[in-house]
Amino acid sequence: MDAFSRPRATRTDNGARSNVIALPASEMPTRWYNVLADMPVPMAPPISPATGQPVTPAELEQIFPPQLIEQEMSAQRLIPIPEDVLDILAMWRPTPLIRARRLEEALGTPARIYYKHEGVSPAGSHKPNTAVPQAYFNKISGINRLATETGAGQWGSALAFATRVFGMTCRVYMVRVSYDQKPYRRTFMRLFGAEVFPSPSPHTASGRAILEKDPDSPGSLGIAISEAVEEAAGREDTNYSLGSVLNHVLLHQTVIGLEAKRQLEMVGETPDFIFGCHGGGSNFGGIALPFVPQMLAGEPIRAVAVEPDSCPSLTRGRFAFDYGDTAKLTPMVRMYTLGHDFIPPGSHAGGLRYHGAAPIVSALLDAGVIGAEAVAQADVFRAAELFAHAEGIVPAPESAHAVAAVVHKADELREEGREATILFSLSGHGLFDLGAYEAYLDGTLPEQGDQRKAIASAMRDLPEVSL
Ligand SMILES: *Cc1c(COP(=O)(O)O)cnc(C)c1O
Repeated sequence: MDAFSRPRATRTDNGARSNVIALPASEMPTRWYNVLADMPVPMAPPISPATGQPVTPAELEQIFPPQLIEQEMSAQRLIPIPEDVLDILAMWRPTPLIRARRLEEALGTPARIYYKHEGVSPAGSHKPNTAVPQAYFNKISGINRLATETGAGQWGSALAFATRVFGMTCRVYMVRVSYDQKPYRRTFMRLFGAEVFPSPSPHTASGRAILEKDPDSPGSLGIAISEAVEEAAGREDTNYSLGSVLNHVLLHQTVIGLEAKRQLEMVGETPDFIFGCHGGGSNFGGIALPFVPQMLAGEPIRAVAVEPDSCPSLTRGRFAFDYGDTAKLTPMVRMYTLGHDFIPPGSHAGGLRYHGAAPIVSALLDAGVIGAEAVAQADVFRAAELFAHAEGIVPAPESAHAVAAVVHKADELREEGREATILFSLSGHGLFDLGAYEAYLDGTLPEQGDQRKAIASAMRDLPEVSL
């Protein structure tokens, strides 16, 4: 008997007492699932702001490496993950799927609730799943420097980690309100060698234009994207990297759903409901897209993207061409949008403050393949507290939007006396978000106000596109 021996059944070997469904490392997915091969409706091409015509690969090559441009447009169903990328992902993947048994008990629901825990990654969210391949494809294309934006700081943290792994450098434009609210995210990025500026910044023409109008601008993802794109387009040695929205980002995130599907199979389950919070669509796409072939085949799987009611692009936006950024430097893509000028109210769910939505998620929503709902901030923090008490994990405020929707559904199922299997994405932990929880406990979370006027005003500036 040595210090490490213990009765087997109490360890995490998926015995009766474990709620953790661990996928063996040998079963980590080696290919990404590309939903573009199975889309039931055609995707509109992105439109160049310079020509008004579909963007050409040559235009995109100013800011992206060729492999990512190819993935953006690929119709190949399964795309191999390079060995060097798998080696890094294996630092924390496969991530656990966890049965939320104590949450079920707390809710008294007949539903079986499972969550995919992406908070175990180096940056504490799902974002490194795409930061690593993006850094890698830039590196092998001879690019050693990336510029990006970050909302809540999670994407900047993920890219700072990924560029460090491949010996590259990274500059991050961080939305001002988060820069002030979340100083330790800044420290995290700097520790991994990234340069971090609050956005709007005086370093770019786009930033200066905003500052002239409003020196106290809280910033927005749309503004920070303009700054990073401007820098990447203006420098030979620098490319741009985006943490959400684009097809290749959702592609990289499908490891989440591919693993979850296998893990549910291991315990004989298929999901009836899938929930993911929605900012730009990457963690929702990551968990839901691998189930799209089953949905299209008529299986009763309902996937729902959950957004804040203060930034309701999917539930109140218009499905139209719009710019991805405020300064209109990016291509126009067809997506659900609140208008590129919409600046969402300062919120503690910084990662969900984006005017648009992924074109893939938008097209699937428009086609009725998936659903969307909006939740209120007060519900989100109550659900987060309940989840923390039951499961012992502090969720990121973003992820807590999915938790709130799961709680609503579980309550509904209890009232109907109906069993069902719920899968959701816990996109990240909230240990860098304790300022938000402090405000919640003190009762000082800011009111978000009615955004209807601001949305209506921003919608008037949607671009005209005629193809
Ligand atoms: C960035 C982020 C989000 C929102 O982005 P999506 O692309 O919609 O996933 C959600 N949760 C966490 C933890 C994030 O870091």
